[in-house]
Amino acid sequence: MTEQTPVPATVSFGFADVTPEEKTARVGQVFTRVAQRYDLMNDLMSAGMHRAWKDRFVRLVRPRPGEPILDLAGGTGDIAFRLARKGARVTVADINPDMLKVGQARARRRGLTDLEFVEANAEALPFADAAFAAVTIAFGIRNVTHIERALAQAHRVLQWGGRFFCLEFSTTEWPGFASLYDLYAMEVVPRLGAMVARDRDSYRYLVESIRRFPDMASFRTMIEAAGFKRVVVTPILGGAVAIHRGWKI
Ligand code: SAM
Repeated sequence: MTEQTPVPATVSFGFADVTPEEKTARVGQVFTRVAQRYDLMNDLMSAGMHRAWKDRFVRLVRPRPGEPILDLAGGTGDIAFRLARKGARVTVADINPDMLKVGQARARRRGLTDLEFVEANAEALPFADAAFAAVTIAFGIRNVTHIERALAQAHRVLQWGGRFFCLEFSTTEWPGFASLYDLYAMEVVPRLGAMVARDRDSYRYLVESIRRFPDMASFRTMIEAAGFKRVVVTPILGGAVAIHRGWKI
């Protein structure tokens, strides 16, 4: 599948178009810069709401004790910890060693010793075929350079009957809320980033990358193109955030 995917000349990095290599490098720099303040900024930017979205996401996953679950782009561990507390055997994969380091330290502080942390690109996973019962990815897929490759890899590492779950920002379909949300995202978030993390540019990228990400219907089509069946979309706040899920059957 990977070989057949045509390589585009440019991809989006926020509102800029850059080469695929440059996007991967620049996304790496963003997360290295924000790693230490990442969790605090999530709370500030979403007024704590990201916690409820993540709880809801993990409720949909319905992790079972002992089942192997891969949390892709797992970052500082928010999804992985929720899955592990339900008894799942969780592997966190992330391309960025600085985010992983913060995640490992948080896991130790929480006494969660059974998680495995692996530095890996979602586009080329170092796991065997059919290794996992579920694959999750939260607020990660829009940062991946070739999204279709990451979806194909998620499909490959899932067992037959396995489930795929993606939590990501999308496009709200509530008209009044859309303009308010836009104003907040474009004006307030970069300022918050400048004040709290002293890094306006990284937070500008995060907001711009949300704008460039495919809408709910288009992303659903991409998930289906990767081979997933019975794909269901659950919008939150009219689609400002969305959960896409599908089956490998
Ligand atoms: N899942 C976590 C959460 O919900 O809080 C972290 C999300 S954070 C916004 C995005 C993460 O995606 C970062 O940790 C970044 O390093 C990771 N990432 C970006 N590109 C990636 C890739 N190609 N493969 C794996 N991880 C990637």
